Amino acid sequence: MNHRRKPERAIELKVIQPKSVLNRSGMGGFTLNPYVGCPVGCAYCYVPHMAHKQLEERKWGTYVDVKEGAPELLEQQLARKRQPVTVFMSTATDPYQPVEERYRITRRMLEVFERHPQHGVFILTKQSLVERDTALLARLPRAGVGMSISIMNDDLAQVIEPWAPVTSERLAVIKRLSAAGIATYILWAPAFVPVRMTERFVLDSIEAIARSGARALSLDALNYRSRQPAGLTRRLAREGHAPATKAQIELIQSEADRRGLGRRLELAEPESIEELEPMLPF
Ligand code: SF4
Repeated sequence: MNHRRKPERAIELKVIQPKSVLNRSGMGGFTLNPYVGCPVGCAYCYVPHMAHKQLEERKWGTYVDVKEGAPELLEQQLARKRQPVTVFMSTATDPYQPVEERYRITRRMLEVFERHPQHGVFILTKQSLVERDTALLARLPRAGVGMSISIMNDDLAQVIEPWAPVTSERLAVIKRLSAAGIATYILWAPAFVPVRMTERFVLDSIEAIARSGARALSLDALNYRSRQPAGLTRRLAREGHAPATKAQIELIQSEADRRGLGRRLELAEPESIEELEPMLPF
């Protein structure tokens, strides 16, 4: 299913040369952002509220800086690492946002990981463009591909994530990637659920996620500290939905545990790369 795309004329596009691409992450490992900015425009996005973005004069969702030269920098930075590292792509942009089709920064970065297979890479996106790289991703022994979702209701997904494929389409992408032998996961964050969350809702949601072939499901609540627009929660309330409480998240997670989904995706250990290779389908 095709989804609406924000017209490129609504985006201020700039090509920049970054000085560094790997940043240490508070979660351990490194973050990697092939672009600055994101046109997807999720109503709950926390990125424009991050400390370093407070100084940004441009309005979030209206600009994208393309980090030309970033793959070459990544190659240099990874080659200097003495130990295998884990890299998260991405934490402040969508690596498969529409301009990736033209600039291929994310793809060129994955090609770098192919030359340095001891390093692990976690992709996180909402876009079906990730399927363009299925064959390449399947060749990476330490790659995990995740889709982030926020709401199981496709109509509401279109309201709060206007320029992304609906949730069912994202799960369908994960299903195809899983079938190609790629380790996949779902990040349900921030989680929005029906106000009257029933057992049926929990069972059906986890059934849909398990059927996608994802190996792991992580959940998180809406981060109120990042000044979310009040309009978002009002709009959801009109449709009988609300941000999930910690207790609701725990209920969903318990059902996911029961179905054998991990709470986080584990990548292969670097030393077992050779053992894994014969299992890859390409
Ligand atoms: S796709 Fe991610 S980075 Fe882009 S607006 Fe949505 S939450 Fe923010």
